[in-house]
Amino acid sequence: MNETVFGKIIRGEIPAVKVYENEHFLAFLDINPVTKGHVLLIPKDHYTWIHNAPDSCIADIFVLAKHIIEKMILSLKCDYVQLGVVGNEVPHFHIHLIPRSLSKTTTLSNRGHEPYESIDEMNAYGKKIAASLI
Ligand code: AMP
Repeated sequence: MNETVFGKIIRGEIPAVKVYENEHFLAFLDINPVTKGHVLLIPKDHYTWIHNAPDSCIADIFVLAKHIIEKMILSLKCDYVQLGVVGNEVPHFHIHLIPRSLSKTTTLSNRGHEPYESIDEMNAYGKKIAASLI
């Protein structure tokens, strides 16, 4: 059983603002975003670290990440999307997708740098990204 917080999100035991889901992968908003619209993309199968995942999962998740990045740039009107694989907190392989402006220097070490003002604002960001991915 995947007892990580992401396992609980996959099983629907705790809520998440989902932006995309298919049979194998799930994307949802980070609750402690570097910037608003910060997405986490995860495989539904449990792999603790990237090296535990089969090559097919790595290939598919990065192709999907590229697709989501393209839609985030359009829907959020950001300059680009920074991609990171960190794993300080949650031992379930995941990719951070962080909307970035060329004029700002925030980095992945700035978790919670741009908190949502309310759950409504977080849901609005989620809806915007999800709508671009339909
Ligand atoms: P890391 O493991 O260092 O790559 O970071 C894990 C990320 O998961 C952090 O940026 C957290 O803010 C995020 N996170 C932890 N719990 C949740 C949750 N319940 N919903 C959304 N994001 C979460």
